[in-house]
Amino acid sequence: MALFGKPKYTIVRLKKKDIPDGLWAKCESCSVALYNKTLEENFRVCPKCNYHFTLGAYERINSLLDKDTFSEFDKDMLSADPLEFKGPKTYADKLSQDMHATGLKEAAVTGEGSLDGKKIIIAVTDSRFIMGSMGSVVGEKITRAIEAATKNKLPIIIVSGSGGGARMYEGMFSLMQMAKTSAALYYHHKAKLPYISVLTNPTMAGVMASFAGLGDIIIAEPRALIGFTGPRVIEQTIRQKLPAGFQRSEFVLEHGLIDMIVHRKNLKLTLGQLVEYLS
Ligand SMILES: [Zn+2]
Repeated sequence: MALFGKPKYTIVRLKKKDIPDGLWAKCESCSVALYNKTLEENFRVCPKCNYHFTLGAYERINSLLDKDTFSEFDKDMLSADPLEFKGPKTYADKLSQDMHATGLKEAAVTGEGSLDGKKIIIAVTDSRFIMGSMGSVVGEKITRAIEAATKNKLPIIIVSGSGGGARMYEGMFSLMQMAKTSAALYYHHKAKLPYISVLTNPTMAGVMASFAGLGDIIIAEPRALIGFTGPRVIEQTIRQKLPAGFQRSEFVLEHGLIDMIVHRKNLKLTLGQLVEYLS
């Protein structure tokens, strides 16, 4: 036997089921494995590549408002099924599935609270609930939030995370929400009150083409997908290759669609300064 033999190692291969759920997350951009606690401490932003993970509506509200100041509006408003939509999945099934998965009743959460001691109205759309798409309830909740801001002479901040745009399950009823939210914002604007729109990944289609695109100031998180039609459909239609980074925050900032890109860790500070300055 050799004097310096190879030490014997026991190789333990962890199966996916051996790793406790919720302990680790994989970065969707650079694939690095991240300890969930580290990710939480870093505002759910990948410390390696700066990828901004999706934030749920309540997580977002907690990250922006002063502690325990949020009071929710229209918490129990539920979607009807006006078309009795049936596809591979019925609308009723899709609603109940996403309610169960997210703990939300709809894709928008709205209410009032304080930001650095100043009272504001806030609305957030959550991309985990039918892609944050706008049906009648999302449109109605956002419209009521804007109207409350106008009535009480308050600034409004709307944080959008809506890849789905208008909600196809509701057909024309969802398209009508684009006009309704935009009209409410017109009266808020006419009253000379500030509206700050925050675009997160992704903000697309009917949401971007209505309230999300109408901010007095439009802020985006880094590398968020922002646009109307998705890049794949555009490429197929015009039969041309789109430039690198097309429809990402950095690209749309360069082309004048938005005003600034703010890293999530600075978002509360920036919004507080803007609200202070504009009101
Ligand atoms: Zn990463």
